[in-house]
Amino acid sequence: MASRKELLGDVRRVVVKIGTSSLIKGGAVSERFMRSVAEQVSRLREEGKEVLLVSSGAVGIGLKAMGVKPKPNEVPIRQAAASVGQSILMQKWAEAFQGCGITVAQVLLTLDVYSDRESAINLHNTIESLLENGVIPIFNENDAVCIKEIKFGDNDTLSAIIASRTDSDLLVILSDIDGLYDSDPGENKDARFIPVVSKVDETVRAMAGGAGSGFGTGGMKTKLDAAAICSDAGCNMIIASSEAYGVVYRTAAGDDVGTLFVSGDEVSKKRRWIKSAHATGRINIDEGAVRAVLDHKSLLPVGIRSVEGIFEKGDVVEIACGGEVIAKAVPNYGSKDLFAIAGKHSGEIMGIIGHRSHDDAVLSENIALLGFQRRKRRKTEKKVCGARLRVSRVSGHSLIFPYLSSSLFVMR
Ligand code: GLU
Repeated sequence: MASRKELLGDVRRVVVKIGTSSLIKGGAVSERFMRSVAEQVSRLREEGKEVLLVSSGAVGIGLKAMGVKPKPNEVPIRQAAASVGQSILMQKWAEAFQGCGITVAQVLLTLDVYSDRESAINLHNTIESLLENGVIPIFNENDAVCIKEIKFGDNDTLSAIIASRTDSDLLVILSDIDGLYDSDPGENKDARFIPVVSKVDETVRAMAGGAGSGFGTGGMKTKLDAAAICSDAGCNMIIASSEAYGVVYRTAAGDDVGTLFVSGDEVSKKRRWIKSAHATGRINIDEGAVRAVLDHKSLLPVGIRSVEGIFEKGDVVEIACGGEVIAKAVPNYGSKDLFAIAGKHSGEIMGIIGHRSHDDAVLSENIALLGFQRRKRRKTEKKVCGARLRVSRVSGHSLIFPYLSSSLFVMR
């Protein structure tokens, strides 16, 4: 397996989740810890990385401010405490980041935001706009209004959902435990630390204990659930102790800190690489092919209008329609062959170029849609090759902007 430095060397967007136990020390909020997080985030940004924070602590801070101690199942007082604590929490984060000249934003979420297309798009645009403007978004669940049905449940899950929906490369969960052990280190002095997990399977879940018996505050179970969500999204995840020296910076820099959960989705990883690679040419496609590509189908020669540049099969190229780049891809044929078979049916390939390795010009697994770009954009709806598509204008050229399901954006 590749080293951490290799795996995480190219991390561009990081979500850092900070648990209540990391923030509140000895009954008080640790402003020193918050300042240290701010300084490390600032350093990561100087290196060109984008950072999003998920901060717990609202309920704990609020209960202390109100001077109340609720019984375990008393929900309303916790919700009230969250609304008191959230503003104190944000004030403290704002002060910590102010020292580094960084502005922060509060983003409170409920799970239903991702069930509603319009809200999901608006949230996406807000996050991108904050990042483009150098603001650090700080997320928490909107505890004051959450009822059971719409609760993320815990900030481990919330952070994993945010990491996966923001196309992040890494989620770092800071906790009061330094990672995963093969048994409870509190009970078994011989418990072995697990530095890397490549798949969250039953063996790994058994290490963390069953539901409700997880060790470590917040529970290892929710962290493993978070790791599974991240893995599906092609995002790596690390559980590390908030006490570890320089943990925010070092985890994102690929140092051996905490337990790394390697993203298991090979296709996602490949697409991530394709997106970041330099394109040596361009394949211009027609409207029908745009729909197929946005629907995660392969690109057939019949959908190709023209080919630009000189490239070999296996090189990275842009896929465009009407001047709009919608994806990057690795084609099965080089530019010369694609030029010859453009607009033709797959059955004709052999007769035209004398060989036929594939019916498809590009396999779907080798196409990376360019949604969620991280540059300046202006959202609009536009007619691209006859299909009405939501596009994002990116530094002079637009990108079609598929979200959750591309078909949501194709309006005929
Ligand atoms: N949203 C809760 C708070 O701010 C924390 C939930 C959690 O720790 O998972 O207090």
